Amino acid sequence: MKIVDIRPTTVTIPVEAPLRHSNGAHWGRFVRTIVEVETDDGLIGLGEMGGGGESAESAIRSLKPYLVGHDPFELEALRFKIGNPTASLYNNRTQLLAAIEFACLDLMGRKTNLPVHALLGGKLRDSVSFASYLFYRYPNPETGEGEVRTHDQLVAHARQLRDTHGFTSHKLKGGVFHPDHELESYRALADAFPKDSLRYDPNAALSVEQSIRFGKAIEDLRNDYFEDPTWGLNGMRRVRSMVDIPTATNTVVVNFEQLAANVLDLAVDVVLLDTTFWGGIRQCIKAATVCETFQIGIAVHSSGELGIQLATMLHLGAVLPNLSFSGDAHYHHLVDDIIVGGKMQYEGGRIPVPDGPGLGVQLDRDKVLEYAELYQELGGYTYDRDPGRPGWFALVPNDRWADPAVAARPTLTIQKGS
Ligand SMILES: [Mg+2]
Repeated sequence: MKIVDIRPTTVTIPVEAPLRHSNGAHWGRFVRTIVEVETDDGLIGLGEMGGGGESAESAIRSLKPYLVGHDPFELEALRFKIGNPTASLYNNRTQLLAAIEFACLDLMGRKTNLPVHALLGGKLRDSVSFASYLFYRYPNPETGEGEVRTHDQLVAHARQLRDTHGFTSHKLKGGVFHPDHELESYRALADAFPKDSLRYDPNAALSVEQSIRFGKAIEDLRNDYFEDPTWGLNGMRRVRSMVDIPTATNTVVVNFEQLAANVLDLAVDVVLLDTTFWGGIRQCIKAATVCETFQIGIAVHSSGELGIQLATMLHLGAVLPNLSFSGDAHYHHLVDDIIVGGKMQYEGGRIPVPDGPGLGVQLDRDKVLEYAELYQELGGYTYDRDPGRPGWFALVPNDRWADPAVAARPTLTIQKGS
């Protein structure tokens, strides 16, 4: 089996309401690139990458000379063909490599009629549990619904997600408002769901000292972990020395050099593995084995997935023996998906691991066309800008918090061709 072609398609799928975060917002939709890798025997493997548009599509197409003739089963060779660590000093292709690795694993499964989890050592669980992923949100610009700004709105949204999907762990994405406001929000969640566990992630927006103050103020709660309160391994180490909550990261331990540094001088107790950031499912499994060796916790990170990438997270979660936390998924914020059958469904806070050949998902061509056309209509958006605060940008640590008293309903300006 040899690769003969690679085809990227940018799609955009709306979310229920714009999601706010420490650096800006998801402006009412996600933009993703679907990657199809075709072989000489007519099989097509599926991959997915964050972002899109001409630059992402040309980056994927630029790999074609490297990959035509490559056997998808040769995954370690693939890593060095695309992600050689010294060649990568000139062109960081980690996320491209991840999308191609997903497609190659999908092809291996389609060729052998085996699910990806069977190729990765075999599944240890039939479903993977997820936390609710709670964001502060602007209202949907069309319906005016869905705002999350006050503590009551946050708890009501969490209750609705819990009732609908069965989540028993709740992640609050913070770093939007002053930490005092977010601390009250977090404690309101704890009051509302005393038997559930919680995690707080302000995307490193807090100073070390603010992180310590926040962490001390939630030590009595049922915390899974304290995720990236501040920036950097050294900052996290200082927080960890002062706060009795396990620390976690998806930002400062995202490769093996950083993992080694963290093993040698511990700053982070739980490493959130992202199949894109680490360069593929298999790199995440290798990292999980290092963590198993050193008794460092792991969880599965979400970088804003559609069904293809969600499948990679499910196959990863299925084969990790040391997965002791629920994963994160933005998935339930989406209004639709590009896979046959529509959105995968949660059952009791869990999503079943696909058992079909390969990743176990098929492209719904009509949906791909529909959401590729929507991307052509809407274009990209500036993830690291806030549509409700023109001219604003974040510092690290930040001190330019949004005002929770302001009920903004921003227009989501169309920006073509990013
Ligand atoms: Mg995070």
